Amino acid sequence: MCLFCKIAAGEIPSDKVYEDEHILAFRDINPQAPVHILVIPKIHLASADEIDEASAPEVARIFTALPSIARQAGLTNGYRIITNVGEDGCQSVRHLHFHLLGGKKLSEKMD
Ligand code: AMP
Ligand code: ZN
Repeated sequence: MCLFCKIAAGEIPSDKVYEDEHILAFRDINPQAPVHILVIPKIHLASADEIDEASAPEVARIFTALPSIARQAGLTNGYRIITNVGEDGCQSVRHLHFHLLGGKKLSEKMD
C-alpha cells in the first residue's frame, strides 16, 4: 500500500480536516503556506495523469468538497489548488492529491 493509501486507511496517523466515504483532507506535514492541506481520493490513483471516465467521479467529489474545506480552514480571501504530476512536476507521493494553499498572498510565480 502506498503512503497515502495507508493514511486513507488510518494505518498512518494524519491531521485530518475533512473525511467522508470517498475522500480525505489532512494537513501537509511540511507546510509551504500558513494553510497547506492535501485532499486525496481514498481509492489509489497514481496522479492526475490517471484520471479517466471511471475515476472522474472521485475527482469531482474532491472539487465539490474543496470550497467548504477552504472555508473551514479560514481561507476567505482566496487560495490555490495544485496537483503535481510525475518527474517534471516534482510529484513525490504517487497517489493523486490536491494541495490547498493559502492564508497569505501567494507567489505570482507558479514554477
Ligand atoms: P507532492 O510533492 O506534490 O507529491 O506532495 C507530497 C506532499 O505530501 C508534500 O507536500 C509532503 O510534505 C506531504 N507529505 C508527505 N508525507 C506526509 C505525511 N505523512 N503526512 C502529511 N503530509 C505528507
Ligand atoms: Zn495510494
